Amino acid sequence: MDMDFDIDCPECGANVKVKLADVSRQRTVRCGRGHAIELVDEGGEARKAEKTMRDLDKQISKLGRTFKF
Ligand SMILES: [Zn+2]
Repeated sequence: MDMDFDIDCPECGANVKVKLADVSRQRTVRCGRGHAIELVDEGGEARKAEKTMRDLDKQISKLGRTFKF
């Protein structure tokens, strides 16, 4: 499970798609015009959200095993 975000390039305002995992790992992404954008996970929120989604994923796959059709 992953989530995409739209952010604006601080240099040129171009729309850039980043993944939650990119933010939690504080990767540097590039906009369409080649500007480097350093992603900052302020307060570790992205990391927390990622963990929450991983847990949710686990719960859902557990449910999938519970219900056999
Ligand atoms: Zn740019």
